[in-house]
Amino acid sequence: MENLTQCPVCKETNFSPFLDCKDYTVSRETFTIVQCNSCEFKFTNPRPEPKHLGKYYESTDYVSHSKSNKGFINSLYHIAKHYSLLKKIQLINRLCKKGKLLDYGCGTGDFLNTCKVSGWEVSGIEPNDLARNTAKELLKSGINSELSENSFEKDSFNIITLWHVLEHISELDKTVETLLTFLKPNGILLIAVPNCNSYDAQIYGKYWAAYDVPRHLYHFVPKTTEKYFKNKGLSLEKILPMPLDSFYVSMLSEKYMAQETEKSTGLCMIRAVWRGYISNIKAISKQGTSSSQVYIFKKGAF
Ligand SMILES: [Zn+2]
Repeated sequence: MENLTQCPVCKETNFSPFLDCKDYTVSRETFTIVQCNSCEFKFTNPRPEPKHLGKYYESTDYVSHSKSNKGFINSLYHIAKHYSLLKKIQLINRLCKKGKLLDYGCGTGDFLNTCKVSGWEVSGIEPNDLARNTAKELLKSGINSELSENSFEKDSFNIITLWHVLEHISELDKTVETLLTFLKPNGILLIAVPNCNSYDAQIYGKYWAAYDVPRHLYHFVPKTTEKYFKNKGLSLEKILPMPLDSFYVSMLSEKYMAQETEKSTGLCMIRAVWRGYISNIKAISKQGTSSSQVYIFKKGAF
C-alpha cells in the first residue's frame, strides 16, 4: 500500500480519518478516506500502489468499460449514456468553435466519436487495453495508451476533457501539469467528478457508490477542486450539474446497502429514484451540491 504524507491539494501533512468504505465492486476490501485538517480535501489513504491498482478494475460489474446491456442497472446506464453524450457535445460546441480536443481517459471512445462526427479533430488517451482497442476500432487513429511530455505539440488543444477520470489518477500533479502544457492559452479544461457534498453522498454515507474505493483516490467538492486548479494557474468559469448521475449513483448505493443487509433490491430501486430526484431538487436550490458536477476551467494567457 502507498501512504500519502502530503495533502494532494495544499501539501499540508495533518489529516483526520473521515470514513471507512468497502469496495463493493471488486475486492470487498475496506479502505479509509481521510480529510486534510487544513483544506478539508478528502482522499483515500493509504491506497494501493499504482502497479496494483489494475486488479481493482477487473470486474464484469465495472460497467464504465463494458458494452454489455445485461442487467437492469446496466441497461439504464446505457440509455443514460446516449442522452449524456448528447448533452456533452452540446456543451462542448457551446464552449468553443471547432478545433482540437483531447479526452484523457477516453474509455471505449464514444464521446470522442461523437465529437469527431460533430467536426472536432480528436485525440484520446486510455490506459486500459480492452477499452483502448475498442476506441481504436471506432476512431481508427489518435488513441494513445499513456501520456508523456512528447505526446502532443505544446499549446495545441482548444479543449481537454476528463470525464470522471481525475479521481482515478495516481500521479495527479504530474498528469495535470503535463496535460496543461498541451492546452492553448485561454483553452478550456473540462473536469467531471463526483461531489461528496451532494445530498445523495450525505444520505448514503459509507454506501455512497461514488466513493468507489480504491478506484477513486480523491473525493472532490467545489472548494477543493477550485483550489487545486487555481494553484495550477486556471480560473474557474462555471460549475454545471450532472442530473443523471444522482439516479445512477443512488441505485448503485442502494444495491450495496441491500448486499450488506441481505435484503432484496426491488423496493430499494424505487427509493433510489426518489432520492436521486430529491438530490437534483436540492441541487437546484443550493448550487454546488449536485451528485456529480462539470467544472469548466480556463487556462490563463501567460
Ligand atoms: Zn489540504
